[in-house]
Amino acid sequence: MDSKTNIQELKDFVRKHCEERDWDQYHSPKELSIGLITEASELLEQFRFKTDEQMAEILNTPKTRLHVEEEIGDVFFFLLCFCEKYDIDLSDAFKKKMELNEKKYPIEKAKGLNKKYSEYE
Ligand SMILES: [Mg+2]
Repeated sequence: MDSKTNIQELKDFVRKHCEERDWDQYHSPKELSIGLITEASELLEQFRFKTDEQMAEILNTPKTRLHVEEEIGDVFFFLLCFCEKYDIDLSDAFKKKMELNEKKYPIEKAKGLNKKYSEYE
C-alpha cells in the first residue's frame, strides 16, 4: 500500500478526521510534539528489556506485530497532523534533512560506524 499512497491524501485524511472530532483546538505545536513523543515511547515500550531474539519474535508474531504497527500508525498520525496543520511539506522537509545528513555522514567516514558526526576524526 505504501507504493500506492500519497502523503497529501494522508494529510487530507488526518485533517478530516480531526475536523470531524473538533480536535483542532488541542493541536498546538507543543501538544502535537507531546503526542508524537508519547506514541514513540509506546512503540519503544514494546521492546523494552527484550533480547534480539525476543524482538524478532514480536515482529514475527501477528498479534504482537499488530501492536507495533498500531504504535507506528499513532506516531505517523501525529507527524502528519503536525505537518498538515502547520503547512510543512513532509517530503521536502525529509529530503532537505537527508541532504544535510549525507553531508554530515559521508559514506567514506560513516560506513559501518554508529558514531555521531562530531566524533569523526
Ligand atoms: Mg499508541
